[in-house]
Amino acid sequence: MQLSPEVVRLCEEVRRFVEKEVDPRARWIEEHDAIPDELVRMAREMGLFGITIPEQYGGIGLDLAGKCAIEEVMGRTSYAFATFLGNHTGIGTAGIVALGTEAQKKKYLPRMASGEWLGCFALTEPQAGSDPAAMRATAVRKGDRYLLNGEKTFITNGGVAQVFTVMAITDRSKGIKGISAFILERGFPGFAIGRNEHKMGMHGVTTVPLAFNNCEIPAENLLGPEGMGYVQALKTLTMGRVTIAARCCGMMDRLIERCVEYMKTRVQGGKKIAEHQGLQWMLADMGVARDAARLLTWRAVETMLGGERGTLEASAAKLFATEALAKVADCAVQIYGGMGYMREAGIETAYRDARITRIYEGSSEIQRNIIAAQLLKDA
Ligand SMILES: Cc1cc2nc3c(=O)[nH]c(=O)nc-3n(C[C@H](O)[C@H](O)[C@H](O)COP(=O)(O)OP(=O)(O)OC[C@H]3O[C@@H](n4cnc5c(N)ncnc54)[C@H](O)[C@@H]3O)c2cc1C
Repeated sequence: MQLSPEVVRLCEEVRRFVEKEVDPRARWIEEHDAIPDELVRMAREMGLFGITIPEQYGGIGLDLAGKCAIEEVMGRTSYAFATFLGNHTGIGTAGIVALGTEAQKKKYLPRMASGEWLGCFALTEPQAGSDPAAMRATAVRKGDRYLLNGEKTFITNGGVAQVFTVMAITDRSKGIKGISAFILERGFPGFAIGRNEHKMGMHGVTTVPLAFNNCEIPAENLLGPEGMGYVQALKTLTMGRVTIAARCCGMMDRLIERCVEYMKTRVQGGKKIAEHQGLQWMLADMGVARDAARLLTWRAVETMLGGERGTLEASAAKLFATEALAKVADCAVQIYGGMGYMREAGIETAYRDARITRIYEGSSEIQRNIIAAQLLKDA
């Protein structure tokens, strides 16, 4: 797909930033489970918090192709930093951009574009993960406000976000058509943010539970019409799946490059390990998996930019790219041998980070369900 010269230039700038500033701090992010302030400041100066926010609200206004091109570059470095930014510029802001009133956009988007306010997306509940329609959180209108009760779990960036897009039931009798979306701010009365979870990977990104106890939301913070929350959440997730696939492609690029470097320098049995056919074949399979993932990702981008929903294409891209990344990361550990198992090489970090991509924003099983349902519908 042909990218505009502006997107190509921005990608080059982001790539320099990744290599000069993010990569040298990747180990620090992993070990301190935090994002360094100076990286946030530099990303703010570059406008990276506003890449998907329209220009009239202070952003850069990239479309899905631009967003995915940046995700590919970000995938080359700390997965935590890529997620911290990518979640905000993706599912953390998409609802307000798509459904916000002019007043909501003016209030929230400029500060989200500048990075002053971080956004996040809260759909999952303890008993409603793969089946978000089983949610229990309710929002009842009382005069000029809604009272929100319930809980959410595993919310990416929730520990540091200021703005939360939260889905809750406003009319139980209507099933999924009775689910609405709201914009919440940190500090609304009755809104509590729980402690950061200890995770297998993605260290540096906060993942928290949220609790609402008669949380008061001004009625003007309803996002879109009542009953549109579920449909909008699914649209947001469809977009999010393609961007995760793009990030996985970037991760695979970097892992393959590192393996090539290692294979050409590591000597065993008197020859470079690159000369062993067994490893060459492993590398070939890694390259083919990465290329196929990239083709599926950009097919999904083109389909969606062409005006179609792209449900099947987005799920196929996420399913294939995340499973390919698992294989590539596993092979990378193998090619590095004992060093692959050591923290200092950074390969095992990618192996652990990669694991989440097959679970969040719809597990691999859920992507297969979606793809099968679409194929059966079209038959
Ligand atoms: C680190 C992290 C960050 C997250 N960030 C966010 C976030 O920012 N916002 C948010 O709203 N949520 C977030 N989530 C939640 C995430 O989307 C869910 O964890 C995911 O959808 C799976 O739900 P679950 O954990 O409840 O697993 P379950 O739904 O309990 O699934 C358990 C197993 O059963 C399988 N399964 C379930 N239903 C079916 C089915 N119908 N067919 C076949 N297999 C099935 C699943 O694939 C899985 O293997 C995050 C989760 C994690 C771990």
